Amino acid sequence: MSFSLAIVGRPNVGKSTLFNRLVGRRLALVDDQPGVTRDLREGEAKLGDLRFTVIDTAGLEEATDESLQGRMRKLTERAVDMADICLFMIDARAGVLPADEVFADILRKRAKHVILAANKAEGQAGESGLLEAFSLGLGEPLRLSAEHGEGMPDLYAVLQPLAEEF
Ligand code: GDP
Ligand code: MG
Repeated sequence: MSFSLAIVGRPNVGKSTLFNRLVGRRLALVDDQPGVTRDLREGEAKLGDLRFTVIDTAGLEEATDESLQGRMRKLTERAVDMADICLFMIDARAGVLPADEVFADILRKRAKHVILAANKAEGQAGESGLLEAFSLGLGEPLRLSAEHGEGMPDLYAVLQPLAEEF
């Protein structure tokens, strides 16, 4: 049995970095510069003995006439509707920003299962952001460092019981 996991959150929090780590091949582009990744990208993820489909959301980096907020909402809603589980990522170093609250709202209303993850939390840098994340009302945040591969066993521990439902 398998499930799908959508990684959602505002640009630059580290979604594609986690996607690439789970997929093990560089299917999604990661870049410091805006405008590199587009829309939705799917890959086959492997985490311990779990195999699932992972969906990376992008496309928010691009400047178009439509507002970022509007595109963010549409794209996130598409990903949320496609996926069994959503991993909502914030940047633990930046803390909770107004855009994160917009995502949290969409997810609270629409997602079947939400996993809250505070990324870039290697070392002590993410401590205050991790605490702020509780205020999103989506439960206890998972402490991740997608770039350094920290927090993967905790992600496994959260996904494993959910995987059994699908
Ligand atoms: P996305 O826009 O959400 O897909 O974010 P990306 O995966 O493209 O990452 C944006 C930037 O954050 C890149 O420069 C990454 O190298 C960096 N990044 C991603 N994960 C981490 C992390 O765990 N720690 C730190 N310090 N930087 C990270
Ligand atoms: Mg990306």
